[in-house]
Amino acid sequence: MAEQETPVVFLHQVERRYHQGDAVLEILRGGDLAVWPGQSVALVAPSGAGKSTLLHIAGLLEHPDGGEVYLDGVPTAGLSDAARTRMRRNSIGFVYQAHHLLPEFSAVENVMLPQMIRGLGRGEAHKRASELLSYLGLAERLTHRPAELSGGEQQRVAIARAVANVPRLLLADEPTGNLDPKTSDHVFHALSQLIRASGLTVVLATHNMEIAARMDRRVTIRDGMIVEMA
Ligand code: ADP
Repeated sequence: MAEQETPVVFLHQVERRYHQGDAVLEILRGGDLAVWPGQSVALVAPSGAGKSTLLHIAGLLEHPDGGEVYLDGVPTAGLSDAARTRMRRNSIGFVYQAHHLLPEFSAVENVMLPQMIRGLGRGEAHKRASELLSYLGLAERLTHRPAELSGGEQQRVAIARAVANVPRLLLADEPTGNLDPKTSDHVFHALSQLIRASGLTVVLATHNMEIAARMDRRVTIRDGMIVEMA
């Protein structure tokens, strides 16, 4: 049973509020979310509901104002910034709405870099990057720079880069939000294939109900709580 395992990420009674002048914006008021190994979870909520905030907290990019974030059972609130950064680099992959690829590097180099930062040799990093990009249908685009790629191709490179170090957890923030419906479908198809083949654990924020329907679970943010959708 999944429940006897340790969640890959467990948000426990997480609170997050922003102060805007005299007003306090309560985004999360004690949200709980456990994501089990190999699960894919769609986070579906209107713009401004707190999806990015939740992903940033789960990815250790932001501290919650209350509660705890466990990664593979390890509480993270008390960790130093250096330890959080190390954990993020070793365990978490991010895909954003904009690709954030480095413009002066080729597709394959963009996917090699995070691996080399982690200590892999150039040859090995190149081999893995080429395999991943080929898997995502980009075998003929390895040496193209981001500006020489279409939007859908750029986003597939960003996905390859995010999973290059075999993260425990992939966090995706509307990864197909900037693409036209057909391209979005194509990119999501490539992403789902990769998720299935690798058994990745994923939390993906999306507005797209068709995409959400293809994930294992759907959750939303309501009144500052994280709630399961039907
Ligand atoms: P979503 O990803 O669902 O669109 P966000 O998590 O980006 O929502 O933002 C949730 C709410 O918090 C929004 O109303 C946003 O304006 C506000 N917000 C986000 N970050 C900050 C910040 N650093 N300071 C003040 N308000 C913020």
